[in-house]
Amino acid sequence: MKLNQQSSERGVALLQNPLRNKGTAFTEIERDALGLRGLLPPHIHTQDEQMARFLENMRNLTDPLEKFTALSALHDRNEALFFRVVCDNVDEIMPLIYTPTVGLACQRFGHIFQRPRGMFISINDRGRIADILRNWPHKAGIIVVTDGERILGLGDQGANGMGIPVGKLSLYTACAGVDPAICLPVTLDMGTNNESLLADPYYVGLRRHRVTGPAYDELVDEFITAACEVFPDVIIQFEDFANHNAFRLLERYRNKICTFNDDIQGTASVALAGVFSALRVKGTKLSDEKFLFLGAGEAATGIADLIVAAMVAQGIDQETARKSCWLVDSKGLVVKSREGLAAQKLPYAHDHPPITDFLTALTTLKPTGIIGVAAVGGTFTPEVLRSMAEINERPIVFALSNPTSKAECTAEQAYNGTDGRALFASGSPFAAVQYKGKTFVPRQGNNSYIFPGVGLGAIACGATRVTDEMFLAAAQTLADHVTPADLEQGSLFPPLSNTREVSAHIAVAVAEVAFERALASKSRPEDMLTLVRAHVYDPRYPAHA
Ligand code: NAD
Repeated sequence: MKLNQQSSERGVALLQNPLRNKGTAFTEIERDALGLRGLLPPHIHTQDEQMARFLENMRNLTDPLEKFTALSALHDRNEALFFRVVCDNVDEIMPLIYTPTVGLACQRFGHIFQRPRGMFISINDRGRIADILRNWPHKAGIIVVTDGERILGLGDQGANGMGIPVGKLSLYTACAGVDPAICLPVTLDMGTNNESLLADPYYVGLRRHRVTGPAYDELVDEFITAACEVFPDVIIQFEDFANHNAFRLLERYRNKICTFNDDIQGTASVALAGVFSALRVKGTKLSDEKFLFLGAGEAATGIADLIVAAMVAQGIDQETARKSCWLVDSKGLVVKSREGLAAQKLPYAHDHPPITDFLTALTTLKPTGIIGVAAVGGTFTPEVLRSMAEINERPIVFALSNPTSKAECTAEQAYNGTDGRALFASGSPFAAVQYKGKTFVPRQGNNSYIFPGVGLGAIACGATRVTDEMFLAAAQTLADHVTPADLEQGSLFPPLSNTREVSAHIAVAVAEVAFERALASKSRPEDMLTLVRAHVYDPRYPAHA
């Protein structure tokens, strides 16, 4: 195995290793010691100066995709500088390296492709996946894997979906300080049913339709087995699988290996944290609320399941708790009499006459909160918002679909449509809104508040499983970091610039659950926060490379 050979690198090889390259910041002593003399221009820059230069150049670009490409190129040549740029400018950079720009980057992936990152494993690699994983030069601690079938709300992007694992792993480092050297993005190329990609000469994936059935399952199984063999303590995060595979795969592996699905469980946790904040404003209890979801997929049923788990933890019985969540999918209200419902919808298939449209479901059921996760833009119409404002003094309105074009409504529409009374959160970022002399600062119900801290906690304690109880603890911890001042300006989440601190506390909460449930392979430390902080990567250059 060729793990961790990089520390002996010198000269050009060192400059070409993004994990160790410091570019013009290598000191005189380092230049002599590491064979760099003459390979760099003479002036030594500080990291601050390098960051200022990069930002100046990037800010001169007007197109977000060009900014994405500039950031990717920096990521590929100097990771420390890349993460310094991200960490010091989270609000500006996060929408460029993740949603919404990453969606466009996936759609254009083959056209803007410069350099591979992560590992591509295809259906043609059956029987040799362990050998292929051994080509990775580092010891992976976290793998984010996609098969590209449901990229954000953009559908099948095939192997172009690689933008998502790369982006998510950047957020692990940016938001929680997970060491980039242990992060491995993986795309399973199972083919694509996206005809325009198949016809695109620059498409990076296999020219074939998606494989399904046993061949699909066998490839996933071989990958999981191989990953756990080659990287024994690895955490595997499933990302952007279509829901006909996502729920099955989660059920198959969640009790066997250290894994989770961020689209289901991470989303649930961040949405629940937003609900907890809304309850503080309203002065109500979770059991006082009734939620109507637009969408009944991974996000919707994941959120509903965690709301129910939170109610059960508060002493409500499960049947009663489930009755507080109602789902509307593409066929209308999910009710008991509907045939052929997917397993994950069944707990929410209540005894009720069928209703085909969302507005009628809303006026009939009179929910206290609506949660949009159907990836159909503009569905929280002025009528929907007006009805919510008529039914509720403080309506909860979460427009979580991504990217921005798929959002159920904008922040402005939410405040305008409810006379400024909506308790609003969104999936993609929206700027502050002025309404009747008040400034509202809507914040994203962004999964990056949750999964990086969960991953950091799991690494710190050597978790053997990632459980729903950990996501519940993460939601509570995130909500605890929302200040009265945040709530006053309509923010249901803390500022993104605070995520590293929040993530450290989420990591502690996750590790606490792991120790409590005997799911930690390391011994319990005296001080959990110190243990967590010991695992945090600092993007500032170390004294010696
Ligand atoms: P999914 O494919 O699993 O589910 C989509 C659901 O929407 C399905 O149940 C489908 O039946 C339903 N649907 C489709 N068209 C509809 C229509 N016209 N009316 C009603 N329902 C309809 O996808 P998902 O993983 O649940 O993600 C859905 C959306 O949520 C995506 O846009 C995704 O980007 C977003 N999301 C946001 C966050 C976040 O903000 N933190 C997290 C996860 C997902």
